[in-house]
Amino acid sequence: MNCPICHKPLEKSGRSWICINHHCFDQARQGYVNLSRKQKKTGDNETMSAARTKFLETGAYAFLRDALKEKITALHPETFLDLGCGEGYYTREIAASVPESYGIDLSKPSIAHAAAKDKHTQYIVGSIYELPFDDASIDVMTSIFTPIPDREIRRVLKNQGILITVTPGREHHNELKQVLYETVRPNDDPHPVEGMELVDTQEISQKVHVDDIWSLLEMTPYRYTSPKEGLERVQACTDGLDVTFDFVIQTWRKKHND
Ligand SMILES: [Zn+2]
Repeated sequence: MNCPICHKPLEKSGRSWICINHHCFDQARQGYVNLSRKQKKTGDNETMSAARTKFLETGAYAFLRDALKEKITALHPETFLDLGCGEGYYTREIAASVPESYGIDLSKPSIAHAAAKDKHTQYIVGSIYELPFDDASIDVMTSIFTPIPDREIRRVLKNQGILITVTPGREHHNELKQVLYETVRPNDDPHPVEGMELVDTQEISQKVHVDDIWSLLEMTPYRYTSPKEGLERVQACTDGLDVTFDFVIQTWRKKHND
């Protein structure tokens, strides 16, 4: 890890991380380090973070987590970084088989939760657009439902390094969208990642009965973009709903710079 101010390596000293220029970052009680240069609260707030944790703990996304773990374990990375890792639901499972692992997210409540549950991974509060890592230092990165900072990814990945992206498939959340909106269109296909070569695309989907539709809604962008009548219809779904979870997992390799 590098200092976010002068980009020199950070060394651990007691419960602090210090660079050669004496910039110092304290490790929190839960074990994470805050390398964000912004003082104000950023990223997902406590409500969103708690809603996501509650929903993920129902196991509805476990098949995605298992597919990712299998894919990444087969690559035998030495170093792994999860971009926008949130509460570490995917990170801690994948990281268990990787010697050196990191998770970064702007949200302090999310990172505190992640660090409390996983002592093996170093969790960082920071921006994915300014990764606190050396050039060509990471073997495998994941970007799971997060924006893709392609320039930073290319800088930090080793040559031939791998990026795995997860984006919503065409039918993802279809039944929920049908309750929310008058007309529903399928999700767009994923965009290419600049400077990366697509190695593999895998689509996985499952229909799962969700008891608490509201907590699912709470972790989606629809919570803030849907019409009021649609939100009321979701609140009225007291018996839950069968919802399709459809994911596109893509594997990208960093192109050789010559
Ligand atoms: Zn520094």
